[in-house]
Amino acid sequence: MTQRTAFTLTISPKIPARLDRLEELANNLWYSWDRATRALFSRLDPQLWGIVGHSPKAFLRRVNESALLQAAEDLTFLGHYNSVLSAYDSYHSEPSRHQTIKGLNVRDQVAYFCFEFGFHESLPVYSGGLGILAGDHCKAASDLCLPFVAVGLLYRQGYFFQTIDGHGNQQPVYCDSDFEDLPVKPVLHDDGSEVRISVQFPGRIVTVKVWRAQIGHVSLYLLDTDLPDNSEHDRLITHQLYGGNNTMRIEQEIILGVGGVAALREMDIKPTIWHSNEGHAAFMMLARALELVRQGLDFASATEAVAVNTIFTTHTAVPAGHDHFPEDMMHHYFQEIYHELKISREEFMALGHTSNNHDFNMTALAIRMSRMHNGVSRIHRDVSANICRDLWPQIEPEENPIDYVTNGVHVPTFLAQEWVDLFDRRLGPQWRNKQQDPEFWSGIHNIPDHIFWSVRQSLKSQMFYGIRARLTEQNLRNHGSEAHLDRLLRFADPINPNILTLGFARRFATYKRAKLLFRDLDWLRKLLLDPERPVLLIFAGKAHPADLPGQELIRHIYHIADMPEFRGHILLVEGYDLRLARRLVSGVDVWLNNPIYPLEASGTSGMKAGINGTLNLSILDGWWGEGYDGKNGWGIKPVSENLEASLRDAEEGRAFYEILQDQVIPLYYDHGKFGYSVEWVNMAKHSMTSLLPQYGTRRMVGEYIQKFYTLASRQGAGYSQDNFAIAKDIAAWKARINAAWNGVSVRRLDIPSKQLEFGNALHFKLAVKLNGLQPEDVVVELLLSRQYNKVKLNQFQNFRLECTGIIEPNEHQFELNHIPELCGRQQYYLRVYPYHPLLTHPLEMGKMVWL
Ligand SMILES: *Cc1c(COP(=O)(O)O)cnc(C)c1O
Repeated sequence: MTQRTAFTLTISPKIPARLDRLEELANNLWYSWDRATRALFSRLDPQLWGIVGHSPKAFLRRVNESALLQAAEDLTFLGHYNSVLSAYDSYHSEPSRHQTIKGLNVRDQVAYFCFEFGFHESLPVYSGGLGILAGDHCKAASDLCLPFVAVGLLYRQGYFFQTIDGHGNQQPVYCDSDFEDLPVKPVLHDDGSEVRISVQFPGRIVTVKVWRAQIGHVSLYLLDTDLPDNSEHDRLITHQLYGGNNTMRIEQEIILGVGGVAALREMDIKPTIWHSNEGHAAFMMLARALELVRQGLDFASATEAVAVNTIFTTHTAVPAGHDHFPEDMMHHYFQEIYHELKISREEFMALGHTSNNHDFNMTALAIRMSRMHNGVSRIHRDVSANICRDLWPQIEPEENPIDYVTNGVHVPTFLAQEWVDLFDRRLGPQWRNKQQDPEFWSGIHNIPDHIFWSVRQSLKSQMFYGIRARLTEQNLRNHGSEAHLDRLLRFADPINPNILTLGFARRFATYKRAKLLFRDLDWLRKLLLDPERPVLLIFAGKAHPADLPGQELIRHIYHIADMPEFRGHILLVEGYDLRLARRLVSGVDVWLNNPIYPLEASGTSGMKAGINGTLNLSILDGWWGEGYDGKNGWGIKPVSENLEASLRDAEEGRAFYEILQDQVIPLYYDHGKFGYSVEWVNMAKHSMTSLLPQYGTRRMVGEYIQKFYTLASRQGAGYSQDNFAIAKDIAAWKARINAAWNGVSVRRLDIPSKQLEFGNALHFKLAVKLNGLQPEDVVVELLLSRQYNKVKLNQFQNFRLECTGIIEPNEHQFELNHIPELCGRQQYYLRVYPYHPLLTHPLEMGKMVWL
């Protein structure tokens, strides 16, 4: 071929004046949960809408002028446009911020940092659960008019798009985003110049450009190093999400943490509450401490000042899932910073120290530099408390300061349009503001069964259309025949969707045990292939490109789905993303989840399913350990953790088969005279009424506000007064405790009684050696609970002993008269721990002396 040059030229459509606010709609991720807005774009040119992957902004840059001109004259289009705008305007004119939230001050603002954010497929800067949760957190913050900004990275390639070849191999496809097609804009100074900041790296400066995405009321600032000012290496820092090696990862985390703080300062945003979602952003805490040291504080006081208004949320139940970096790498990137912090290398490295690894651990750093920490479900609280137990070495994990807030999902994003329409008609549009009202949701039971069922079936049909399109494309690319495709799609029939359909879609990590259902293929055959009661099983999910066992799982499923007898009964759909997730969770009948207990921190896809009337069949782990009420789906009790893995798989796999065989399949196919199962509909309704009020992000963000944000606001204000007087006091007090604690001891002076008649008092008398501390520096405490055999009948009750005098110069006497309220055998303990009323958590020092 002859040499030729391809010139490019972009022609932008001119938007007719009547439609000029389409731009605004395309630049606000409000459309990610308002389907009417998305439908508005789509109706301008449905084909183009599909081609641009549902991105309003990419769409507006390419739509034909004629389509716009026509729409500007089309009354039905204009009607749709105006109704979208009026909803948009009324959402954005909600009562001005601050007023609605109890416990926050006018000046309060939350800064929320995360490595990934998932709002919609048109902004590909997420990989999965963590990002979508962060996106949902922002959406709910906007719904609640919470003063809130978010900080993340703008990845050129985001995560990968997944294809699966004709041998079941995952083939990642990477695509550069054109940022002009994304719903983001550069942040500008008043003079119109772009906001840039500089981040100091060893021997060089990395320039960072700041972009803004608008999510309703909330701004998300995204940092980007792909600039001509930077070296080739540095341009690639924000290239890929979870790509590259450890060096890439630490550099990304420095940009997010250190660059994120600098960006907020540059834009004159003054957060009073700081939230690190996962440990990737924990350098943010060091960056803030450095600011205070530069103002003259010592590092210990700066740490107290930073930590009291910082929240850290951990999402991982596997210790290896926490980021960590070798010490010499930390030294390389942070030696200048720790010199400036005026601490030694050892003191610096100690911030990330854990007992089982020499590396610098980001979770450890985040916990040491925040005072509010949480897991993401009740079970995950205990798991995290255990993983992090060494950070409070003398405290039992049950008591250490890790709390929990169970995850939720943004209901308007994940509730299918059919339900939205039905709720509008049957329950009234006020359902949007009644999201947490269980009483209100019981109204779902008044929806006639046949209407409820027809919505469910229609959602299943739509899902079948969607996966047929994906599988057709997949088959074509892999050179499959028409006949093969027909056989594959024979049960996924949108015209007759009356086949029991089970869905399993999530990241293919081994602990999620996607293979559990294939343990006994003969049994599975019996379950799926019954011609009277056929079952369809749909799989989707990505494995990280470096996770070879995860990719092996995909191959395994592919090969089983390809066995002649299973063909059509088991489908593996490629490219799991938000769009496919929305379809699957609302379209299938049953959502499966069978992780190895207790490794599912929370899980959120099951919530998305449950609110759409899809029934969960899941191990009682993560959120389902709380969400399952015995009637809203099926729960499998995990067998003992101490059993060998293969035995656990065998037991729990059998439970899965049994529940499917004895309960799920008969219940679904108990069609009776109506053509559907009345009992199934009842259960699905109950699933919605029990889960909708509880598992939305409104409840979740509400809990973050009540438990943490208001506390952070109050403490942050207190600690910073008078040039951080309290922060300095607390740091000095802690230093005193640390120096003295090893010499603190306790002995008992009274003679313990073993029997007591109800109504009589117990008298406790202890002698405590305080090793120079004052009596008010400690709490001396009785812990009492009632026991029957080894079963605790109630939680421990705590009673404080009072200091009643000095026995000898260095030994104080503490006493308590206590009349027990309960009869029966009691168990009690006596202990001493350091205490200061201005601590965030009474046991935050992690020190305790037991008698
Ligand atoms: C909800 C969601 C997830 C997370 O679901 P889990 O139950 O936590 O696995 C992952 N990916 C996508 C695309 C989702 O929508």
